[in-house]
Amino acid sequence: MLDDMDFIKSCNVPGPTKEAIRAIILYKSDVKDTDNVVDVGCGTGGITCEFAQRANTVTSIDINPEAIEMTQKNLKKFGLGQNVTLICDDGANAVKDIDDIDIAIVGGSGRQLENILELIDSKLNSNGRIIVTAILVDTKVEAVNKLKELNYNPKIMEVNISNGRVLDRGIMMMSENPIAIISAKKR
Ligand code: SAH
Repeated sequence: MLDDMDFIKSCNVPGPTKEAIRAIILYKSDVKDTDNVVDVGCGTGGITCEFAQRANTVTSIDINPEAIEMTQKNLKKFGLGQNVTLICDDGANAVKDIDDIDIAIVGGSGRQLENILELIDSKLNSNGRIIVTAILVDTKVEAVNKLKELNYNPKIMEVNISNGRVLDRGIMMMSENPIAIISAKKR
């Protein structure tokens, strides 16, 4: 796993998704070196950089050009990127041109989550996996309901991580944002 501290960050781009969350996403995705991955809303590239080390190909999409730039910078920093394609576009448009998807991660969707999930479903290989990360309660509910409507059996896990900061007088636990990981497998 990459260290959160090693990522190049920008105040205009969210991320990286924290290390413990990336680890759960990786194990939920059951990624193999033959898998083609799509990362919708790649942000700083936290998820992209992890999958780039483990998957066959990664296609990373973000609507914000600065996010694409940050993902590019982080891939370069970690010596990755040979198997990564970066697309600056709305996920609801970009996914139309992508076929043969084994794993789709949705880390950002704006108001397009339902459209993006529908598109991903139409492009996802059998046994393919969809993982949505959501901070807003509304996004969590929307993701679960849409996946049900698309005939998936979604699972939702709420994760609260605290990391210890070792101080002179003791250890202070610092909590990170709670986040939900919604995952589903194509039947
Ligand atoms: N997982 C990332 C952080 C994601 S932050 C990391 O580890 O670094 C969410 C990102 O989703 C933002 O960069 C935002 O620009 C992007 N986003 C929001 N709506 C989008 C859409 N409709 N299509 C593509 N990207 C979108």
